[in-house]
Amino acid sequence: MQDGQGSLDFSALQSSLFFETPEEIYARVFRILKPRTPVPGLRIEFCRFANPDSFIRLENGQLHVRISDLLQGAPAPVTEALAFILLGKLYRKTVPRIYAHRYRLYLNRRDFRRQAHLVRQVRGRKFVSGPEGKLHNLEEIFDRLNRTYFDGLLGRPQLGWSRQASRSMLGHFDPSHNAIIISRIFDNPDTPPLALEYVMFHEMLHLRYPVDHSGARRRVHTREFREEEKKFPGWKEAKEILKKL
Ligand SMILES: [Zn+2]
Repeated sequence: MQDGQGSLDFSALQSSLFFETPEEIYARVFRILKPRTPVPGLRIEFCRFANPDSFIRLENGQLHVRISDLLQGAPAPVTEALAFILLGKLYRKTVPRIYAHRYRLYLNRRDFRRQAHLVRQVRGRKFVSGPEGKLHNLEEIFDRLNRTYFDGLLGRPQLGWSRQASRSMLGHFDPSHNAIIISRIFDNPDTPPLALEYVMFHEMLHLRYPVDHSGARRRVHTREFREEEKKFPGWKEAKEILKKL
């Protein structure tokens, strides 16, 4: 499959995709990416992760790959795509974008997403502190915004404060646990309440507008979402405050 010059030949792969074990697939991809290096020992393990994550590391000359068991039954071309992604990352090799695309396409499939969602619900532990902060009560804020902007129609999810006063994750909606988590940075007399309300409003829009999955794309903030977001009076001012946090 290599032409002897050490250049990569990706075209002749299709026929060899069938009836390979994951170990054989990884060995083959390794030979394509590193034609001059003997294939190291390979250990592939499917693990009960809460998310469809995968990891690779080289230890004592052995490659150890840990793949989410959600991908255990994936078609061989998807396993191959992931092998290119992981080995490419480990050895800093540029691999054709088709592999990342193929992998994302699979993760975006409705049946896969549904399975991943169920697994997250069962396996993922979730810390939800409860709505009461030192200064603010998230339930009160949620209910007030719900009445004002959503005709009171949104079902109240679990509400909680993050453990850390994070600046990078100001708020997030977790659909698997139906929870809105707000950064503790807002439970502070120095942070204007407007910013907290705006972040809560944003997360409530995630409740209202589900993520748009089409093809390999995953659009969290749709155009509709962005339009709706501007209905919050003071959103410009709030964004300014957030920038300065
Ligand atoms: Zn968002």
